[in-house]
Amino acid sequence: MTARILDGNALSAKVRSQLAARAAALAARAVQPCLAVLLVGESPASAVYVRNKVKACETAGMRSLRYDYAADVDPAPVFERIAALNADPAVHGILVQLPLPAQFDTETVLSSISPDKDVDGFHAVNTGLLMQGHPAFIPCTPYGVMEMLKSENVPLKGAEAVIIGRSNIVGKPMAMLLLQASATVTVCHSQTKDLAGHCRRADILVAAIGKPRFVKADMVKPGAVVIDVGINRLPEAEGGKLCGDVDFEAVKEVASLITPVPGGVGPMTITMLLANTIESAERAARQ
Ligand code: NAD
Repeated sequence: MTARILDGNALSAKVRSQLAARAAALAARAVQPCLAVLLVGESPASAVYVRNKVKACETAGMRSLRYDYAADVDPAPVFERIAALNADPAVHGILVQLPLPAQFDTETVLSSISPDKDVDGFHAVNTGLLMQGHPAFIPCTPYGVMEMLKSENVPLKGAEAVIIGRSNIVGKPMAMLLLQASATVTVCHSQTKDLAGHCRRADILVAAIGKPRFVKADMVKPGAVVIDVGINRLPEAEGGKLCGDVDFEAVKEVASLITPVPGGVGPMTITMLLANTIESAERAARQ
């Protein structure tokens, strides 16, 4: 069996055209959805992510504000900026690009963002609501994965879903969403015994590890749906290209449906960030 490719760029284009219509409806009421992005430091990967997010906002007819800080900045002005953005009714979403330098306590920064503008869905209030099954903002990457599964009518009820990775931004919220959709969820991580055995039981396998081509063909059940969240840069000696956590060429011969890297989950993550920001603007406009 050769898997069908779940094209994240094509699905993103479809979802973004629906979002553009919602942005236009808001514009007709003199509301322009606005996302503020804060970047601390000069990490090239973070700079690319921020640039892509800002560009995506502009293409969707939304406003974006960008604030850049040196890596050694004192935290105080960053907190002051977040407080000002919290208070500004023209701003609907606030995002602090992670990871942050060591002088910042990430939890304190995330909890300084108003839960009503936390379009990344990382504030403790929003993670708590997600766990209770009443999410206000769903974290963008797992939200994008759920949209991808929905777009292909992948059966979730009673399905065996295995997630590799237990981070707060991908693995854990992914588990909550799949559980909410009535899948039977197993979360694997670096201390899991018999990882391959768990993976081989999966109808839906989500890899969010950060290790290039970690998931091999013999870890995948024939016909499984394989979602590759990983974004890894290969060493120059191996071509320096981006690759996922899944050994794509081999696994696509076993799976029934698979996401590529690049062009899979990545574009959907940004699309769902736009969706959350528009949702926030719509909520604000209703008040
Ligand atoms: P993280 O480093 O916070 O978490 C990695 C997880 O992998 C951990 O829970 C760890 O227990 C697990 N792990 C590590 N080694 C393992 C092993 N040998 N066996 C089993 N589990 C193991 O990473 P993250 O922030 O969750 O990101 C994971 C990957 O997803 C990274 O490549 C990241 O770049 C990518 N990512 C992509 C998007 C996107 O938009 N596509 C968004 C966020 C993260």
